[in-house]
Parts: sequence; C-alpha cells; structure tokens
Amino acid sequence: MIPVTKSFLPPIEEYTAQVQRAYDNNWLTNRGELVLELEEKLKAYLGVSNILITNNGTIPLQIALKLLGKGGEIITTPFSYVATTAAIVWENCTPVFVDIHPEYLTIDETKIEAVITDKTTCILATHVFGNPCNVEEIERIAKKHNLKVIYDGAHAFGVQYKGKSIFEYGDISTCSFHATKLFHTAEGGAIFCKDPELANQIYYSHNFGHNGPLEFHGLGINGKISELQAAMGLAVFPNMETILSERKKIIDFYKRELDYDFLSTQRHLEETIWNNSYFPVLLENEKILLEIERVLNEEDICPRRYFYPSLNHLPYVTESNTSIASEIAKRILCLPLYVGLEEHSILKICQLINSTIQKSIVTC
Ligand SMILES: *Cc1c(COP(=O)(O)O)cnc(C)c1O
Repeated sequence: MIPVTKSFLPPIEEYTAQVQRAYDNNWLTNRGELVLELEEKLKAYLGVSNILITNNGTIPLQIALKLLGKGGEIITTPFSYVATTAAIVWENCTPVFVDIHPEYLTIDETKIEAVITDKTTCILATHVFGNPCNVEEIERIAKKHNLKVIYDGAHAFGVQYKGKSIFEYGDISTCSFHATKLFHTAEGGAIFCKDPELANQIYYSHNFGHNGPLEFHGLGINGKISELQAAMGLAVFPNMETILSERKKIIDFYKRELDYDFLSTQRHLEETIWNNSYFPVLLENEKILLEIERVLNEEDICPRRYFYPSLNHLPYVTESNTSIASEIAKRILCLPLYVGLEEHSILKICQLINSTIQKSIVTC
C-alpha cells in the first residue's frame, strides 16, 4: 500500500542508543536530560528565542487559548485540522470563522476586521501545509484592536519568513511532532513565545502550575513530554537534512510530471522558505477528485482529503458562510509524500491522475 505518509523511522540503533540514556539515568519524564537536549538542539536549528516541548501539538493550543482566549470569541480559519477548532471549543471559547485565500489557503486577513466584536480576544490562524499566514497584516490588525495572535504551526517546522523562523511571529506559536509530521517524536509538540512573562505562564501551565514541589503559581495541566519521546526526537533530528531533501525531490518530481492544465497546487507566501511538508493538489471539482481517489485506491494508493470537510461544518460549531473554504475542501487532495516513496510510484500516481483528468474532460 502507498499511504499518504509514512513516519520516518531512524535506524533502530540510533533510537535504542538514546533510550539507553534514559535507562542509565533511570529517568523517564519531568524534563530530563533528553528533553532538555532536544529543546536546545531545536532552538538552535529553528533559530527561535524560546521553545517548550510538549506531549503533543494540541495541548499547546489549549494552553495558549486558556491564557489568551479568556472564554471570548476567537477569529479562526475553517481550513485546518480539526484540532484547531476543537481546542477553541474545548477551552470554552467561541470560534468565529473567516474565509480563506483561494490560492494561499490561509485565513484571508482582509476579512478579519469585519467580524471583530467587543467579545473578540484572539486570532488563531493556521500556517496551512507550512505556508505562512500574512503575519504582518494580522499583526497590524491585532495591534489596532488590542487582540492576541496565536498561530497553529503544526505543519510549519523549519519554515522561515523574511529570514526569520515562522515561530517568531504572533504572541504564541505552536508545532506538532506527531508521527505523521515532518519532524516527530511519535507524539509531541512545542510552544513558542517571545515574551518572557507569558513564556513563564506557559511553562507552569504545562506542569500542573507547580512553583517548586509544595507551591503553585496557578492553574496548570500536564503537557510534559517524556524522555522516551525525546529519545525518538533525538534519533530523528540528525536525519533532518535527508528528510527535507528527499521530500523536495519527490515534490519536484510531482511538479514535473503532473499536467497542470486542469489542476493547481498551493501558492506560497512570497519571501518564504517552505518545508516541503505536504503536496496538495486542487482539482476542478469534487467529482474529478472522487474519481481520482477511486482510481488510485484501486491501485492501493491512498491520498488523503486534507482537510475535508471544512471546519465550519463541524456539528458543535455555528455554521458560517465561509464558502471558499467549503468549496476548496471538496476538491483538494494531498498526494503521498514520505522518505522512501519510489520514483516509479510517483510516476504511476501522476500518470493515473493525468489520464483520469483527460478521460473526465472527454466524457463531459
Ligand atoms: C497535527 C495537527 C494538530 C495536532 O497535533 P497533535 O500533535 O496531533 O496533537 C493541530 N493542528 C494541525 C493543523 C495539525 O495538522
């Protein structure tokens, strides 16, 4: 089977060598040596001023919303993974959806101001497939209306905008280190915050609110990552250059072979260094998408409909009229992309897609 993605597995000896350290230390969690080392490595690699690694990429969203959302209205995107909206509702805030750019697929910042009310506390936007939101314009709007900005950067590991890590933008940014993401710790994530005071609040929030063993700063939850997860991260980390270059090769191959007359792909924000995290194709309509999906599935190739349905259709939110997101969600498909995907497989995927599109044009 060719899935949409496969977790990168470092050589088992590299993983067990890291796990051995946890055994030698007899220390499995609570920010041990491996977690601290991984944080230092990632901080330097990403070029961020501050990082806290966590047990997944959802708890950072919840912590950010707990601290900044304050139960208010959160302006957000309907085109993201469900965790973005679910975290808002979970933290007793109200999602207010703003439509997306049809090409960039990120929140359309020109539509944000129209939905701001006196209950709005934050903007929570996703750097979709690693493509940055218009961070400068969002910052301008947030400043003007005294709002906080949170970025769901689950896909954005290693992305730079204007020469700076994308995680340096906004009041808080998050990332996911889930097994399917570009860099992973099996389960894990990170939270980034430049403001030392807020970073301190985030820190104690992720550790039950502890201020030493017998005192508490305030309310907290358990967002800690274990040494065993950090061991996976430390084993994956030295392979990042290979991971990135292999994925770039695959994407270049797709771009060469696909027939762009009847499909397109995501447009990236100018002045961005992108991370080759996903390869979405936008088809003319849902009918062609379903046909392509059927033809590929028959050959045991399984692309994924990221993200369908758009989040404004979730059963626990108020429906919004964000028609661009609803429409794009119906005709976007992420193609297989992982280290080890072979050229003959990519070629086959491209040929099947091109010929299915050709046939659908002839029969229309
Ligand atoms: C993967 C993902 C998350 C959640 O991350 P986990 O580590 O699985 O909790 C949140 N937002 C987006 C956009 C994601 O793709």
